[in-house]
Amino acid sequence: MIQLHDKFFKPFLSEKEIQQAVKGIADRIAADYADETPIFVGVLNGSFMFVSDFLKAYPHPCEVSFVKLSSYQGLTSTGIVETLLDLPENIEGRSVIILEDIIDTGRTLQELVHLFTNTNVKEFKIASLFYKSEIYNGEYTIDYFGLEIPDRFIVGYGLDYKELGRNLKEIYQLNQKHMINLVLFGKPGAGKGTQAEFLKDKYNLKHISTGDVFRYNIKNGTELGTLAKSYIDKGDLVPDEVTIKMLESEVDKNPDADGFIFDGFPRTAAQAEALDNFLESKDMNVNATIALEANDEVLIARLLERGKISGRTDDQDVDKIRNRFDEYNTKTAPLKEYYEEQHKFHSVNGIGSIAEITERLTKVIEQF
Ligand code: AMP
Repeated sequence: MIQLHDKFFKPFLSEKEIQQAVKGIADRIAADYADETPIFVGVLNGSFMFVSDFLKAYPHPCEVSFVKLSSYQGLTSTGIVETLLDLPENIEGRSVIILEDIIDTGRTLQELVHLFTNTNVKEFKIASLFYKSEIYNGEYTIDYFGLEIPDRFIVGYGLDYKELGRNLKEIYQLNQKHMINLVLFGKPGAGKGTQAEFLKDKYNLKHISTGDVFRYNIKNGTELGTLAKSYIDKGDLVPDEVTIKMLESEVDKNPDADGFIFDGFPRTAAQAEALDNFLESKDMNVNATIALEANDEVLIARLLERGKISGRTDDQDVDKIRNRFDEYNTKTAPLKEYYEEQHKFHSVNGIGSIAEITERLTKVIEQF
């Protein structure tokens, strides 16, 4: 295990595995370009080690140049890409092969392709040492890649975490074992959102409320908001497909969180399974599911009160509230067994003062 700034990383790929992958790409490109002299264009900074080893493994005459783009800040892909070092000049009529260290969402790639669109190159190919096929947007064909890897945050062999780790000969992955991921479970009005606000500060967690994300989208008139509105207005659940995708993108926006509080998700068996699979793909998992229990009459009184203050229409109508309880009883309550089987289910009395309930939740969390 190594430490870079505030994070810990564990070994992921050895020097030998990396070198084999580099040689694999060099062999394949060499077979395709034996009869001409291609220009390899490395993408700085991350690809400098790859380019160096690649060229040593490339057996035919070739040229090399570099471009420099900048899109990552810390662990987060900001989507802002800047050109810091521009194209080589003599590329007209030539075959250009981009050498990237890693392809993840494909945003940097889009900018790269854009850079080459108004040039008269003969051919433009993309080679990447690592390729995260699970999250790649698929816009362009990746012509050559060394290794397909899961969606882990990796450092080493040119790749950095806040500029550290580039000099490592091996690849390391972020160690997620210290994370706390909680699912807050309970009927509407049980106090999930209220408690999440306290827990998130206490344990430095990122709070994701799917209901809040939907309401934010509705307020801003997004496509997602328009789609969700008709369901939410009736007190029905939004379809799994939509909700799961949204949840995943909220998690992806916070790669350096110390953990997550999932509030209002999962609400169906399909969502629970999707969450487990998604977290597993990131070497994460749900640590505990905590249910806040309260009876329907208390909840209805709370929701009607909340509806007056927030203006939420689904909180102001007893029929809609009852429909949400029905949705909960038929689709969400069965998840209790799902988490019990994994020994992750905990139940907490949700009636009392806010502070008392926080205290009860804290006791459960401090067990692990
Ligand atoms: P909440 O704020 O958690 O009570 O959610 C308000 C409404 O948003 C729900 O009644 C659903 O229509 C929708 N919603 C929130 N989370 C989910 C979810 N996990 N699955 C489906 N629909 C959801």
